[in-house]
Amino acid sequence: MTRTLITSAIPYINGIKHLGNLIGSQLPADLYARYLRARGQEVLFLCATDEHGTPAELAAAKAGKPVAEYCAEMWAVQAELAKGFRLSFDHFGRSSSPQNHALTQHFAERLADQGLISEVTEQQVYSNADGRFLPDRYIEGTCPNCGYDKARGDQCENCTKQLDPTDLINPRSAVSGSTDLEVRETKHLYLRQSKMRERLSDWIDSKTDWPILTTSIAKKWLNDGDGLQDRGITRDLDWGVPVMRGDQTWPGMQGKVFYVWFDAPIEYIACAVEAVEEGKISDWERWWRTDKGADDVRYVQFMGKDNVPFHTLSFPATILGSGEPWKLVDYIKSFNYLNYDGGQFSTSQGRGVFMDQALEILPSDYWRWWLLSHAPETSDSEFTWETFQQDVNKDLADVLGNFVSRITKFCRSKFGEAVPEGGAYGDQETALIADLEKRLTTYQAHMDAIEIRKAAAELRAIWVAGNEYLQSAAPWTAFKTDPDRAAAITRFALNLIPFYAGLSAPFIPDAARAMAYAMGSDLAWPKSPAMNTLPGGHAFTVPDVLFAKIADEDREAWAAKFSGTRS
Ligand SMILES: [Zn+2]
Repeated sequence: MTRTLITSAIPYINGIKHLGNLIGSQLPADLYARYLRARGQEVLFLCATDEHGTPAELAAAKAGKPVAEYCAEMWAVQAELAKGFRLSFDHFGRSSSPQNHALTQHFAERLADQGLISEVTEQQVYSNADGRFLPDRYIEGTCPNCGYDKARGDQCENCTKQLDPTDLINPRSAVSGSTDLEVRETKHLYLRQSKMRERLSDWIDSKTDWPILTTSIAKKWLNDGDGLQDRGITRDLDWGVPVMRGDQTWPGMQGKVFYVWFDAPIEYIACAVEAVEEGKISDWERWWRTDKGADDVRYVQFMGKDNVPFHTLSFPATILGSGEPWKLVDYIKSFNYLNYDGGQFSTSQGRGVFMDQALEILPSDYWRWWLLSHAPETSDSEFTWETFQQDVNKDLADVLGNFVSRITKFCRSKFGEAVPEGGAYGDQETALIADLEKRLTTYQAHMDAIEIRKAAAELRAIWVAGNEYLQSAAPWTAFKTDPDRAAAITRFALNLIPFYAGLSAPFIPDAARAMAYAMGSDLAWPKSPAMNTLPGGHAFTVPDVLFAKIADEDREAWAAKFSGTRS
């Protein structure tokens, strides 16, 4: 049996993610993981927080906390929000874990042994007052281009000009404000990606089934200009994985850490090691080592398009370059961007709806359905409050929710709270079964191919087919003249509810569970649409309202509330 390893791009630690981040990796990864599990596959679904680097240090300083404490707190916040959105990770790890430290140091040693690490001497700004080298964005000064007095050493936020720290007028440390700065020599390790170019190129060329969005980005980085460049993997920072050659000190590299881009993807592996040590799974090597069983694993990654270069080139360079039998990714599902109401979601500007805010106003199923059915697969897509209200009200309340409510209430009033036994299925039912058979096959094919919008459209069509059936079979009319016929229609329609619950669970897990629970049935993927799961006499209850409609005044209030930046 196929086993599937699924990873979502790991969210950065410096704050709560917005809905654009959510639909760009974690949510579609969860949909796929839930689907495969429902189909009986063994799945390992991993995600983690990406905790190292300068932005984490800056965010911690802004919060007035030691960086380790800040990261531990933000990990807990992100883990709780993931639960709120029902993201079904088998483990939600941390790139700062001891397991990732050890693996990152291991890979560096292996790469050095294979001749793929070089040492490069560079000039970098050192702050005497702070006793440390300063990354470019830790240096502030006046922009030589526009005169803005808080320009950073990498870029002026005011005029967007790219800068070098030495361009700044009156440069000072962003840490302490000290102007006692000097340029010093410092040594760094580089990953010789240029030596890996042929191997990476052959590997990418072998991936003929990957989306064009993925391969075109990879090929651009491989071939544009001078081709794939060597890349620094170390930094003069305190917070990170200490530079070690395996478990040995690395001469000349004391006090330095690995660059966050190098250690973050290794956390995909370390996350599985963490899961074993926390007793969540029994073995990690059967997922990650092709010499220990991972040859049978299909590995699928989910990410936004901005993360594609790291996953198609940098991380594979690390894995392939090690010369060890690590599992490489089999399929990359990448996404364009979700925009917010005529502009971009922005974490730094607090623009858009963030995961915590979303759950404060509506249950997760509303967001999951809308975001997944509008996943930015082939192009960017846009969130507006109007389309959100319109689609949620129509798909979830008017179609699915109304169907469940209408037939269960009708049955209760005419036959009581048990599936009626009379009559037999006729031509109308046979025709709908045939139609649903085809639709089920189509839906599964889209889910297998991770074509999310198409899958959502097919699921919606399946819901609509039931609604149309109920409308045209009209058991409330039949009941007056032919109670047996009404009983058969009602039994058929009640049987659609567990069918819908099973198919809908990857998209809307809470509502699906409520539907199955009300019908006294297991939440399971349907084997066929024969509509005989619930026999005559089977007891059920009328569920609470599954989806309340979004009122105009709510939409207007939310649009106003989220029009500015979050405080
Ligand atoms: Zn400027």
